[in-house]
Amino acid sequence: MAEPFPLSPSLWAATAPPSAATPPLGEPTRADVCVIGGGYCGLSAALHLAEQGTDTVLLEAREPGWGASGRNGGQVIPGLKYDPADLKAKVGDERGRALVDFAGRTADTVFDLIDRHSMDVPHVRAGWIQGAHTETGLSEVARRAEQWAAWGAETELLDRNAVARKLGTDSYLGGWVDKRGGAIQPLAFARGLVRAAQAAGARIHGETKVTRLEPRGTRWHVETDRGVAVDAGRVLLATNGYTGDLVPGLRRTVIAVNSFQVATEPLTDNLRKTILPEGHVSSDTRKLLLYFRFDHQGRLLMGGRGPFREPTGPDDWAHLERVLGKLFPQIKDTPIAYRWCGRVAVTRDFMPHLHEPAPGLLVDIGCMGRGIGLQTTMGRALARYLTSGQATDLPLPILPIRPIPFHGLNRAYVSAFIAWYRMTDGGVK
Ligand SMILES: Cc1cc2nc3c(=O)[nH]c(=O)nc-3n(C[C@H](O)[C@H](O)[C@H](O)COP(=O)(O)OP(=O)(O)OC[C@H]3O[C@@H](n4cnc5c(N)ncnc54)[C@H](O)[C@@H]3O)c2cc1C
Repeated sequence: MAEPFPLSPSLWAATAPPSAATPPLGEPTRADVCVIGGGYCGLSAALHLAEQGTDTVLLEAREPGWGASGRNGGQVIPGLKYDPADLKAKVGDERGRALVDFAGRTADTVFDLIDRHSMDVPHVRAGWIQGAHTETGLSEVARRAEQWAAWGAETELLDRNAVARKLGTDSYLGGWVDKRGGAIQPLAFARGLVRAAQAAGARIHGETKVTRLEPRGTRWHVETDRGVAVDAGRVLLATNGYTGDLVPGLRRTVIAVNSFQVATEPLTDNLRKTILPEGHVSSDTRKLLLYFRFDHQGRLLMGGRGPFREPTGPDDWAHLERVLGKLFPQIKDTPIAYRWCGRVAVTRDFMPHLHEPAPGLLVDIGCMGRGIGLQTTMGRALARYLTSGQATDLPLPILPIRPIPFHGLNRAYVSAFIAWYRMTDGGVK
């Protein structure tokens, strides 16, 4: 696959506090657990393992937060793709209750960690608004708001006028507010997790790509491109949309699609007051959803799907810039300052997947687009499981690895679906 867009053009890389030192692995070492991948999942697992007294080493091919965790929209939204009733129907009543409880608390995990470790992460917890772009979308948000309210979440249903007032655009028919949601500077959060994990005793090495995994007796030999290896009791693979071929078939269990974003120059105070005046973050009910928010310095961000291939130039963001101008015509003369993208791993059933292809090798993959809370909370659950061995510590069952049939062809299908969804989602009014 072509080299993904580098981290440097992202807004987050330009505005995050500096990273702690994470030198490459320089010599062979032993650890109880070796975590591969320095995104939210791997970093949270390393932090919680170290806090439990487990000797942990984390290896990241680039710098921690280089993947989706440093490039995302920073919208902290609880829940999974499915609403509580659907989740219970999927996994059964008892397991479903535990899963809904897990999903409902994922935003809490993020904000609690930021507070508990006094992380230098710009954040605000004013709630998430999901705007409904069609009548079907309206019924969807009403059902969602009702179900989460029944689980104790603070929610509010918005009619057409209320949603227009809170979003600053009259493009939506209504919506709901989920007050558990909020905004973070995502790369700052990844870097905050690095510092917290290091303070707890985890060893974190950047610029260290794992090239091979081999079982040796009851342990794992984790080979790297640095010419040195880790001898680990257990391994957690948390490479998500950037998964390669370390575990046979794994990469083919997901479709890794790029999500694209733009950010404007900071808006004037007067313009700023006309959009999201109460500090919400927002995304909508489109299949190829649009998501937007302000950053902590008054830039307006807009995200959505782009071409399936890796971007080749600014034209690949042109559709988002058009959408921005349609939703918020008042900012049409404000220049775009940043354009970037990152990979989201989508599974066939739109659920995150856990695998244990061999004893002592645990895999987490498939985060969809809501992974800030999910992957941070999953990392904590995986840390517990790695020390307890109790499946009840996991929110989801461990599944066999089942590659998507004709995976290569699926890339073509996805491109076709993107084009189809774009058409059926309708334009922005
Ligand atoms: C553009 C975009 C916008 C998004 N917006 C939101 C949002 O607003 N809200 C939300 O909740 N979620 C959002 N998401 C999803 C969220 O960012 C992800 O779900 C989450 O960051 C995934 O975390 P992770 O730790 O699983 O994987 P990643 O953060 O992708 O980390 C995987 C890491 O593994 C490393 N790696 C891969 N192979 C190797 C190897 N062989 N050796 C060592 N390291 C390796 C990679 O370099 C990478 O850093 C968005 C995602 C994208 C891409």
